[in-house]
Amino acid sequence: MGVGVVIAAAGSGQRMGDQGNKTLLNLRGKPMVLHSIEVFAALPRIQEIVVVTRRADLGSVQRLVSEAKLSTAISVIAGGKERQDSVRYGLEALPAKTKWVIIHDGARPYITSEITLAALEACYRYKAVGVAVPVKDTIKVVRDGLIRETPQRSELWMMQTPQVFSYPIIVRAHQHAHRKGFKATDDCALVEALGIPVHIVLGDYANIKVTTPEDLTERKSYLVGFGYDVHRLADNRPLILAGIEIPFERGLEGHSDADVAAHAVMDALLGAAGLGDIGEMFPDTDPQYKGISSLKLLAKVCAFLDHEQLFVNNLDLTIMAEKPKLAPWKNKMRTSLARVLGISEARINIKATTTEGLGFVGKGEGIAAQAAASLVRSPD
Ligand code: MG
Repeated sequence: MGVGVVIAAAGSGQRMGDQGNKTLLNLRGKPMVLHSIEVFAALPRIQEIVVVTRRADLGSVQRLVSEAKLSTAISVIAGGKERQDSVRYGLEALPAKTKWVIIHDGARPYITSEITLAALEACYRYKAVGVAVPVKDTIKVVRDGLIRETPQRSELWMMQTPQVFSYPIIVRAHQHAHRKGFKATDDCALVEALGIPVHIVLGDYANIKVTTPEDLTERKSYLVGFGYDVHRLADNRPLILAGIEIPFERGLEGHSDADVAAHAVMDALLGAAGLGDIGEMFPDTDPQYKGISSLKLLAKVCAFLDHEQLFVNNLDLTIMAEKPKLAPWKNKMRTSLARVLGISEARINIKATTTEGLGFVGKGEGIAAQAAASLVRSPD
């Protein structure tokens, strides 16, 4: 049937924190791009595969293709400045007798033969087909920080690859775009620009484009931290716990508002992030922190986490006090922390306990708090 494949594997992977070609990174024991190459090479009706990579990677890709000993003809060529240029070069490298072409991103290693064949079958009929999945989230059009439009979610699809075309149509679409200086982020858009209808074939949510290093790890890893703090109870002080003022005849003493619960939470977060502790971050010798609301400090800790691209997965806090009874305040404290942390209340758990009259807590000399927190590098 004259089916050719173009695999775009010239990605620089800036978001991978790596200057190299991300499609050559190891995934389950082999370079990412080889996963796709093997899927296509295993389909008997595919005659030729062109892998387009960076000039600097020609040698490595050629080597990995020859070591894989696949029976399909595979050529490796150098790409252009942008993905669109690379795909155009790939199309030009296919034999002129090619009838159908499958274009695929080398950074989508989870592609299956089932999806590829479904797209190819649809293409025999429709001439231009893109694999896509329905959008699950609500999508907004935003400009200058303002929502301008809310498109109907039922009409929105996330495009994946492969995208499969009649060879003469996609060659014409690329030449047309090249002449007009029209740039698009997928190949379907170039065919759309010719006024030719493009059909959709249902893809798979697992067919992700590997963008960040986390996409390569199959299990999410958690960073865990622990925090502990104690403050003395004194007269003529408000009692503030997790940002909530609790009516009581005494309050906690300290340089800031002495919110022992917020302090334990901050130390747990800083511990998980490997950022030291609150004493280092907000020294009690610094006058700017005198009497400050600890929730403001917590917000600063959150800003550090944001900067490190860390997200709070969950938080568990235990407050130890003989008096007052804290159970009626737990929900308010949870809401207060959730608001500052920018996470759902369901991810926060607060416990309150006495120490049965034992120790400094039991004698009412102070209040202690412990917190455990887990962080993730990408939210779910
Ligand atoms: Mg403290």
